[in-house]
Amino acid sequence: PFDVLVLGAGPAGASGAVYAARKGLRTGIVAERFGGQVLDTMAIENFISVPETEGPKFAAALEAHVRHYEVDITTGQQATSLKPAVSRGGFHEITMASGATLRTKSLILAPGARWRHMNVPGEDFYRNKGVAYCPHCDGPLFKGKRVAVIGGGNSGVEAAIDLAGIVSHVTLLEFADTLRADEVLQTKLRSLPNVRIITGALTQEVLGDGQRVTGLTYRERANEREHRVELEGIFVQIGLVPNTEWLRDTLALTERGEIEVDAHGATSVPGVFAAGDATTTPYKQIIIATGDGAKAALSAFDYLIRLPVV
Ligand code: FAD
Repeated sequence: PFDVLVLGAGPAGASGAVYAARKGLRTGIVAERFGGQVLDTMAIENFISVPETEGPKFAAALEAHVRHYEVDITTGQQATSLKPAVSRGGFHEITMASGATLRTKSLILAPGARWRHMNVPGEDFYRNKGVAYCPHCDGPLFKGKRVAVIGGGNSGVEAAIDLAGIVSHVTLLEFADTLRADEVLQTKLRSLPNVRIITGALTQEVLGDGQRVTGLTYRERANEREHRVELEGIFVQIGLVPNTEWLRDTLALTERGEIEVDAHGATSVPGVFAAGDATTTPYKQIIIATGDGAKAALSAFDYLIRLPVV
């Protein structure tokens, strides 16, 4: 059994494992894949002190840093359920899809999240070649170019406002007949000269020349007419889904499935902490996830040293 088991080996989990191991705790990390979402990322330009790197390179560096310490690393394993300790100081038990179980005195959950996809032709092929999901990350790559934002909720409208300051033109496409974002955001969006808002539009296909995105087609729902927009980038903002389905009956999640954490990264279950994109911590970014992981590990340490001596 472990003192600290970390579930998830993205930036949050890797950071949690390093911090726990540096406290001399028996630390394990288990995940489907080391690196998490970072593996699907091309350019990373906002991890402070590293002006420019690539996702796979960053993921390899995360792993090397964890391997620098005595951490038990298991990858290729999917967690399917969590049985919390029945009493303070008892063992939490995680069961994997393989049937294996892992026991730990404290647990750091860092299963991350996934961007909801449009599931239209071209989207996967042109991912990182014009199709993007994170305006904070990739916005500057489209400086002076034309982009579309898919989705008229808060994140879509925020992205459109953000991008309008960087790119030459933004087309915002919303499936419903009205935008769902807060009124104040909509007012701001409508005040911008280089934004066009199209509602009642169903995105049909991502177009490209084999190398990069060149446009998209959408269908006007009112009359089934198809339209084409020429552009260089598409930001898909139709939801970030936390990988927490398997935790639903075990600890407090928000309506959107985010693990509720307090300022210390503590969840509703004593001895279980959480970090990164899967939690209520705002702004889903690498630098925030790594800080969050460190915080959760220090909180786990605090929890462990307060357990009664047996
Ligand atoms: P994740 O990176 O999602 O890692 C989750 C970990 O949990 C993985 O190891 C996964 O295998 C594991 N896992 C999940 N469920 C289970 C399970 N049931 N059982 C076992 N293991 C499980 N952020 C930036 O700051 N800058 C950027 O430039 C940037 N670009 C991005 C580009 C793309 C295309 C994407 C998708 C995201 C980008 N982000 C960027 C966001 C950034 O990647 C995330 O904020 C960050 O990776 C979150 O870290 P995390 O550790 O919380 O989760």
